[in-house]
Amino acid sequence: MASPAVDFARNNQQRFLNELKDLLRIPSVSTLDEHKSDVQKAADFVANDLRRIGMENVEVIPTKGHPLLYADWLHAPGKPTVLCYAHYDVQPPDPLDEWKTPPFEPTERNNNVYARGAVDDKGQLWMEVKALESLMKSGNGKLPINVKVIFEGEEEVGGESIAEYVRKQKAKLKADFALVCDTELFAPNLPTLCVGLRGLVYTEIEAVGAMTDLHSGVYGGAAPNPFFALIEIISKLKDSKGKVLIPGFYKGVKAPSKDELKAWKRLPFNEEHYRKTEVGSTVLTGEPGYSVLYRTWARPTLEVHGMPGGFIAAGAKTVIPAKAAAKVSMRLVPNQDPDDILKRYTKFVKKLTPKGIETKIKVHSKGPACVVGTDNPYIKESLHQSSHRSVARHIQERNCLHPQRRIDPHRHRLSGRPENSQRNDGLRPAGR
Ligand SMILES: [Zn+2]
Repeated sequence: MASPAVDFARNNQQRFLNELKDLLRIPSVSTLDEHKSDVQKAADFVANDLRRIGMENVEVIPTKGHPLLYADWLHAPGKPTVLCYAHYDVQPPDPLDEWKTPPFEPTERNNNVYARGAVDDKGQLWMEVKALESLMKSGNGKLPINVKVIFEGEEEVGGESIAEYVRKQKAKLKADFALVCDTELFAPNLPTLCVGLRGLVYTEIEAVGAMTDLHSGVYGGAAPNPFFALIEIISKLKDSKGKVLIPGFYKGVKAPSKDELKAWKRLPFNEEHYRKTEVGSTVLTGEPGYSVLYRTWARPTLEVHGMPGGFIAAGAKTVIPAKAAAKVSMRLVPNQDPDDILKRYTKFVKKLTPKGIETKIKVHSKGPACVVGTDNPYIKESLHQSSHRSVARHIQERNCLHPQRRIDPHRHRLSGRPENSQRNDGLRPAGR
């Protein structure tokens, strides 16, 4: 039995989809200066619709970076207040030749909409706005609970402005629960509640050897090479099986509850299918004794993302670089304290640094994991309200809106394969 709001949404589905496509056409790439006005344009686009549907106090808030968007509707006395989050900025669409159709010209194929941002995060943002519209229009201009909305345009570049805003505007943003729509359905047509997000400590190890770049034909054999120092350090941070070797790294790591583990078992997940279609590798790696879902949702990890330095252009140059760096991050799970982990990691890196090399650690971002218990009253209520009994409760690798919000470069954004993976940029238009 569908509610009047769901009826309204179904009857207006084509219009909702057309509006979403208009939003997708705005190239709101937050990391590129030349798109600054497009990010503003996307903010204005969303703000105008929030005003049109009857949200109040709609503000496009200027920041040092890209604008924030606030709106509310607070006329349900005695009812809880929700804070809704999403973002309207996107990552750059490169590499362009991997797109079958232009990234900013939304195209429907295989019942999906393909465009940059379709599933991260304009699709989800528009879903929130359209849910508010459907509830409002089918409820005589009233919402069943109090709603505050905070949208941002800097999610893909660190979200510094929202972090500052949230710290300063605690009273304005106060809510009983937050709804973060920057996640995905576990499988097509499987309503999914993401109840947890791993934390992150993102660092850059800078290694310095000689005082200047040197020629290997002259100094090779005598000058320390910072790349080898980094290789030596990194190779000892994790063993070949995937266990992180930083002393005390796993201290206090909280295991998922029996209920969570049971819920994961019910999910339609096939390891081989995941290996082939999502990862696209010959094997899956990681700690033995844990399932893939366990390893990616509830175990801490350590990764290397890049090693800037030396000569990386085409051709050859026999340089022994004076400096090199490695971007190293750790995903954290509940009960791991980012500051404690950073301390242990720094101490270990220093210990592993070979003679003749100096290392410095720069911190790009850090923040703890957060998990909402599956016995939380709002989680329980949404499960209860769902017409689908198969609602999956799962933990997923994402960050959340939190006073200490931090960078989360989205894992599926980094694949460089805009269309190969189902989870990538395909948005399933609802109800098809
Ligand atoms: Zn996102």
